[in-house]
Amino acid sequence: MSSKKDIASLNLCELEEELRSMNLPKFRAKQIYDWIHKKLVTDFCEMTNISKELIGRLNESYEIPSCSIERKLVSKLDGTVKYLFRLPDGEYLECVVMDYKYGHTICVSTQVGCKMGCAFCASGIGGFKRHLAPSEILSQIYTAQKDLGFRISRIVLMGMGEPLDNYDNVMKFLELVSDENGLNIGMRHISLSTSGIVPRIYDLLENEPQLTLSVSLHAPNNEIRSRIMPVNKSWDVGELLEACRVYADKTSRRISFEYAMMKGVNDTPECARELATRLKGILCHVNLIPANEVKEKSHQRSDDDSINKFKSILEKSGLTVTIRRTLGSDINASCGQLRRDKINEDSTEGKE
Ligand code: SAH
Ligand code: SF4
Repeated sequence: MSSKKDIASLNLCELEEELRSMNLPKFRAKQIYDWIHKKLVTDFCEMTNISKELIGRLNESYEIPSCSIERKLVSKLDGTVKYLFRLPDGEYLECVVMDYKYGHTICVSTQVGCKMGCAFCASGIGGFKRHLAPSEILSQIYTAQKDLGFRISRIVLMGMGEPLDNYDNVMKFLELVSDENGLNIGMRHISLSTSGIVPRIYDLLENEPQLTLSVSLHAPNNEIRSRIMPVNKSWDVGELLEACRVYADKTSRRISFEYAMMKGVNDTPECARELATRLKGILCHVNLIPANEVKEKSHQRSDDDSINKFKSILEKSGLTVTIRRTLGSDINASCGQLRRDKINEDSTEGKE
């Protein structure tokens, strides 16, 4: 890691403070902040209203961490764009931009790898590498927006990593991305997905109640959930759903429960009935996802019949349910695939 300070993770007040210590006036901070967070430059040399002398001083002490585009795939079916980004330390991230009716939505990562070890997920296969800095989460959006040339208006924190395991950096990211001096994306246009770190859900309620919360539930009871999601051994279904109930009651905002349908694991009519009972009274929405099959994992996607039956049982009990439509199915090759292919490719080259 570089010894230079990450200037793009500072908010405007912090940047003013930083520049004051260099005996520079306040308006310089606003200019630099504007270059980084509005004009999206990644090199101090591009800041044309800053003197050469000051650019030299900034270059000595600070860096603007940013990702570069390693690969880009565009779906011929619906225009979904998938990027493989490279971070300055050589790590890779995947990022997807989808075109929904209500605007362009980007799915970003919050960590390199993941500690949570869910049995069906590709993100944790190589283990946990490191947290992403606020600037590195921002940079995924900045790089994509610059490349695409249109405004990205919605964000989902549903890429690699568990956002609530990188809580402080994610909170700082939310502050920066919603700042009117930056991209100014409102909290109501941002969704955060968690595997269920319960104490952090209560923290979120205190700090960012406007956010849309998605919870990866994937099972109606502890027996199944503990088998596929180790986090359930720390905070079980009862504790998780209680936190969700409190969150929804206090914010009056609907929680979205994610449920990846896996053949013979969690997709029976009994599971649907149990789930319906447990979700009773929670202001929520259930999102059924035909599970992506992952080369290194054994689960299989449920068939359409089981998914439709599951959906209708939930609906009969009064829940609102959607089946997630697959975007970019021609480039999807299951989430995380591009990154793993690249890592394998690099390690093979290294051996030669
Ligand atoms: N760590 C967070 C957010 C990133 S994962 C979380 O777990 O919520 C984004 C979503 O993809 C989660 O709902 C996760 O459970 C789901 N997911 C992971 N692997 C999947 C797979 N193979 N098929 C379908 N959904 C999957
Ligand atoms: Fe981590 Fe989420 Fe994948 Fe679980 S589903 S391993 S929490 S990224």
